[in-house]
Parts: sequence; C-alpha cells; structure tokens
Amino acid sequence: ETLLNLISTQLQDNIADSPLEQLKAASEKIFEDAQGGYALIGLWANGYMFGLRDPHGIRPMVLGKRTESNGKIAHILASESNVLNYLGFEFIRDILPGEMVAIDLEGNVHSTSNSKPKAKAPCMFEWVYFATPESIMEGTPVYGARLNLGKKLGEKINKMIEAKTLDVDVVVPVPESGRIAAIALAEKINRPYRELLIKNRYIQRSFILQDQESRNHAVQMKMMAIASEIKDKRVLIVDDSIVRGTTSRKLVEMLKHAGAKEVTFVSTCPPIKNPCYFGIDFPLQSELIAAKLSEEGIADALGANKVIYQDLEGLKEALNQEGLCTGCITGQYPFDVSRAAVKFEQARTLSQGA
Ligand code: SF4
Repeated sequence: ETLLNLISTQLQDNIADSPLEQLKAASEKIFEDAQGGYALIGLWANGYMFGLRDPHGIRPMVLGKRTESNGKIAHILASESNVLNYLGFEFIRDILPGEMVAIDLEGNVHSTSNSKPKAKAPCMFEWVYFATPESIMEGTPVYGARLNLGKKLGEKINKMIEAKTLDVDVVVPVPESGRIAAIALAEKINRPYRELLIKNRYIQRSFILQDQESRNHAVQMKMMAIASEIKDKRVLIVDDSIVRGTTSRKLVEMLKHAGAKEVTFVSTCPPIKNPCYFGIDFPLQSELIAAKLSEEGIADALGANKVIYQDLEGLKEALNQEGLCTGCITGQYPFDVSRAAVKFEQARTLSQGA
C-alpha cells in the first residue's frame, strides 16, 4: 500500500511524453528510493496493469498468459507460479530483479529495468518455508528444493549414525512444511518415514500469532501424536526451521509424552539468529532461540536429546541459486539495514507493549 502510494505520487508529479514513459520514470524512482523486499502489482487508469520487483529480487514475481474465448491474450502477474496453474495460465517467466513490466489494453507487454542493477538475492526462506510446494521460483521447483534439503541433512545424519553418535528408529515430519524434506531424509538414512503427528487444519501458523499465550495455545491445539507408533522409539522429527522454539518445544513434549525413547529435532534451515527487515512478520532478535543459545542449549530448552541443523553450505547447494539472501541466518543482508533495524526494533517493541 505504501509503495502504491509512492508510485501514485510519482505518476502525478512526473509528466512524460507518454503514459508508458511516465510509468517507467515513476518505477525508476521507486527502485532508487524504496529499499527492501517487495513485489508490487497495480492497475493504472491510463490503461496499464504493472508489476515491479525489488532490485535485489528478494521477493518473487512471475508473469503468465492465457488465451481467452474471444482469442485475446490475457496476462497475469503473481508472486507464485502455483496461482497460474490454478487459474489456467501458462508460465512465461520470472520478473527480473529491478524490472517493471507494464501490460497495455491490447495485451502488449512492455518492460524496463532499473538503470542501476543490484546483486540478486532472492529470499532463501521462500523455498524453505513460505512458498507452496507446487511453485517454481527462479527455475528451482520448491518441492525439489525441499527434497534436496532433506537429502543434505540425510548425508549429515548418516555420518553420525556411522560414528555411532546417533541412531534413529523412525523419521517423523512436522506437517506440512517438514514433510517433503523428511521423505528424502528418511530415504537417505534408510529408516521408516511415518506421519505420526496429525495436524488440526483449522489452526493458523503459530509463529505469526501476536502474543506468546496465543502461540502456546495454538501449538497445543494444532497437533495430535500417534502414541502407539511412537512408544519406545528413537524419533527423528523434521521441521522446516526453529524460530522462537515455541512450536518445537511443544512437539518434543508431545512426542515424549507419547512414549518416545529419544527425540532428535532436525531443522532443514540453518539457525535463524537475526530478524528479517524485508516484509515478513518476523520476531525480534531477542526472541529468536538460536540468537541466544548454542545447539546443546537449544536441545535442552526444547527438551530434546539432540538438535541438528542444516549447514549453510547444504542450504545453498540444495537451493542451487547464484545469489541468495541469507540475512536472518548470517546477519549479512543484501544492503545496509542499520536504519531499518532501529525502526524495526522500535515498531515491534511498541506493538508488543500495546
Ligand atoms: S532475511 Fe531471511 S527471511 Fe528475510 S529475506 Fe533474507 S532470507 Fe528471507
């Protein structure tokens, strides 16, 4: 909404030779002035649908087309390619970082790029957690990336099994986002895969609920364990990530309560130690469990026997991208975030105090 306001102001202030030139000039100004991660889609009464992707390509955007019954070509802009499949559109391509695409009333696609290109840095968390598995981003299918994450972890865990520092009777995914990686991991370590945590589909994602009490309650309500298959087993539980640790701790508690002999918690994402300033509702650094504790400390806090994280190298190999934002893992963002960090801290603290 803020960006649409900015672009609307720019369109009013910059009079050019044609509406298209006006739109291009306004986009260039947005690319210069608005730092961050965004994928913006708008309609302009002068006869254009337009889309802008931030200069680092942190957030995704795709273009598709469909032939209508009257023979005309309709275009679509969306943040995930699965939307195209559902609506019967054909995928054309990803919008490039720093690209503005404008589609006129005749169905012609016009494109312009930011005159100062930046290093590409799509968000790693799109493949790990945010995106739906049926989407393809930057040429890498989300489903395939999650299988790769599981295989990479399987290689790491096989070494522990060979060294006799770990053994596993059963691999259990945290539904839904841990499932694909857990299948590949179980195949890699040659142990049975079982869906022993059953999800209550009517509860929201817990890490974006506003307060701790709601999150605790949501976790209690959202899963049920199959005790008959868990009792006396060494369980390897696989989730996409560990953010605050609230969900993970409850799940470990649930598995232990169901009679698990050992619980090893596996995260397909490396430790998340830093906030995200790029349009995600993310916790403060002080709330991130990996920012405060070592892996042993995290295992203790979760009540697990062990915690195993994906390595950063494993993540990069699994996602197979030339550039990648890994700011929430490494603290190294695609650009200087010091001002955003102060504002983020103030805004989050205020909203929590409210
Ligand atoms: S900081 Fe993390 S969540 Fe935010 S854009 Fe970068 S990788 Fe994605």
